[in-house]
Amino acid sequence: MAAVEGVTRACPQCGSEAFDALPEYSLPPWQIGECGDCGFVFLRNPPEYKHLVSEFAGEKTRVARVERRKARSLFRICAIHARGVDGVKEFPDRYFTGALLRSFLKHEKQPKVLLEQCSRVLAPGGAVHVRVPNDGTLNRGMLGAKWCGFRYPDQVNYFTTKSFGTMAGDCGLKLRLLNPLRPPLDDHLNAVLQRRDERAAIA
Ligand SMILES: [Zn+2]
Repeated sequence: MAAVEGVTRACPQCGSEAFDALPEYSLPPWQIGECGDCGFVFLRNPPEYKHLVSEFAGEKTRVARVERRKARSLFRICAIHARGVDGVKEFPDRYFTGALLRSFLKHEKQPKVLLEQCSRVLAPGGAVHVRVPNDGTLNRGMLGAKWCGFRYPDQVNYFTTKSFGTMAGDCGLKLRLLNPLRPPLDDHLNAVLQRRDERAAIA
């Protein structure tokens, strides 16, 4: 498996090379850690995209995950269809009224670049619906490496309410949580993103 490790990446939120390893959450050779500057949690050495599609798509790694978490009873299946950033760049400004990033942003090695592009292509009044793992859930603290949110190595970003809001804000987007009352008890964050300038104009 080590042969398909990708090159190490800088923090996808702030670009810092400072990295604090979290060995209790990592499964060698995959390195999960926290940015030393902004605290964003991410997989440092994700496989190249071609390996993500051919070898680590969710349905292909499911058996290994189930073995690792004997007590787990509910499966989630997701599919990787295309390279998000390159795909969005093909469209002109203000082109889409909506975008659905359900269980997608967690796989994107350049999540901030993708959100910047989504902000660019959103038409007036448009919105992006996003569902990502919630790294701030109490479940993660209790289960450690067995937390259902850890999937090696196809899941490469781990968001909290704070880090997700920061990244969205840096991209000109305002985050509105759809599960605002129970993020500590929810393994996912569901949210709608809208351009900040439009929300200000509406207000
Ligand atoms: Zn950072």
